[in-house]
Amino acid sequence: MITVLAGGVGAARFLRGLVRCVPPEEVTVVVNVGDDLERHGLRVCPDLDTITYWLAGLVDPDRQWGRADERHTVAEELRRFGHDTWFTLGDRDLATHLHRTMRLHQGATLSEVTAEVAAAFGVTVRLLPVTDDEVATRITTDDGRDLHFQEYWVRERGEPNVTAVRLAGADRARPAPGVLEAVLDAEALLLAPSNPVVSIGTILAVPGLRDAVARTAAPVVGVSPIISGSVVRGMADRLLPALGAEVSASGVAEHYGELLDAWIVDDADAEAVEHLAGRGVTALAAPTLMDDPLVAAELARLCLDTAADLRRRGVGA
Ligand code: GDP
Ligand code: CA
Repeated sequence: MITVLAGGVGAARFLRGLVRCVPPEEVTVVVNVGDDLERHGLRVCPDLDTITYWLAGLVDPDRQWGRADERHTVAEELRRFGHDTWFTLGDRDLATHLHRTMRLHQGATLSEVTAEVAAAFGVTVRLLPVTDDEVATRITTDDGRDLHFQEYWVRERGEPNVTAVRLAGADRARPAPGVLEAVLDAEALLLAPSNPVVSIGTILAVPGLRDAVARTAAPVVGVSPIISGSVVRGMADRLLPALGAEVSASGVAEHYGELLDAWIVDDADAEAVEHLAGRGVTALAAPTLMDDPLVAAELARLCLDTAADLRRRGVGA
């Protein structure tokens, strides 16, 4: 079993490559749920759905999230009643949220519904929400407000300055069934090039997760989401400084610290390899911009080969 810790788009682009290297049934993905929110009475899980739509080949290629060939009839009609529609929910996408919400009301767990949704889209990778409990990433802004992650990022377009990030509800949350086993019993544990703060960071904030990643016998190999000091997309560059981390390929590796056995940086950051070696981190440089699925597959192959090599040398154990 290959296990991947994942946020949304960056992880989905990587997983599209990974499933070209190994049978999808051998891949378990532990997914962030800190971005989840309730809109119009429906439970929306952006990262789980982004990964599902990408792996099903149904993602909108321009936005890189949501469904291709989408319409927004329901959102337009909701505006008639004066509802806020700052969070875009297309008609096709709404069916996913309707199904999920109905099943949760019937007493199904988020893990169960996630498996059903994946199966309905023909996705055979095992997708596990990191927890079935309700958690939410909260953002503290420098004007003293406490916002849900989506209020900060979507409604306010990521404009406020951030002073702190926390996962509300984490203290009461338990890892979903299979999550700790997926981390502890993996052959290789991969950290997707996802947001280190609000995707990987929120996964690690669920009690038991950080400890499992630290203790797993699997080599832990991560891919940098930062290329040449910039994000490919998203707001990690605005959040890392709030945690005292540098916005660079090395900065993210140092932020993960002891958890990592190896770190893949982009060729553009090749100088980070030597810098990190000086700090005891094994780093490699490779093309990591995954606009092309073949590049994603080669990157995934490099992660797997690196993990296999570390395993042979007894690293991680
Ligand atoms: P989100 O939930 O959609 O924000 O997605 P993630 O948490 O997966 O992370 C977005 C992160 O993925 C950002 O920091 C991006 O810089 C990174 N990312 C997206 N696409 C790529 C890519 O092709 N290569 C690399 N190296 N990073 C990427
Ligand atoms: Ca996300």
